[in-house]
Amino acid sequence: MTIDTDSARKRLQARQADLRKLSAGSAAARQTVTLDQQSVGRLSRMDALQQQAMAEANERARANELSRIKAALRRIETGDYGYCLGCGEDIAVKRLDVDPSAALCVDCAAKG
Ligand SMILES: [Zn+2]
Repeated sequence: MTIDTDSARKRLQARQADLRKLSAGSAAARQTVTLDQQSVGRLSRMDALQQQAMAEANERARANELSRIKAALRRIETGDYGYCLGCGEDIAVKRLDVDPSAALCVDCAAKG
């Protein structure tokens, strides 16, 4: 079974671009909450803090995915793409289809 690394690379790069765009778009939401205490009540301040926390969590998830994508792109360059980092076996093509950045086979992923 051969893996189409060209299409995997394209998908990874497209996702990478999307994530970077999303990240740039949410930069404002992640800025430290500096609300005018006189114009906003306590509740809306809590709302703002909550939104900021959510934006930060999303950003962490994006950073996480970006580093997985980067690692997958590196594996494509080095010819290691498609092999499980845990056991060295082939990662199922179907699995890579669902998540081109997958670094582990199903078994190793299940083991955590
Ligand atoms: Zn494995």
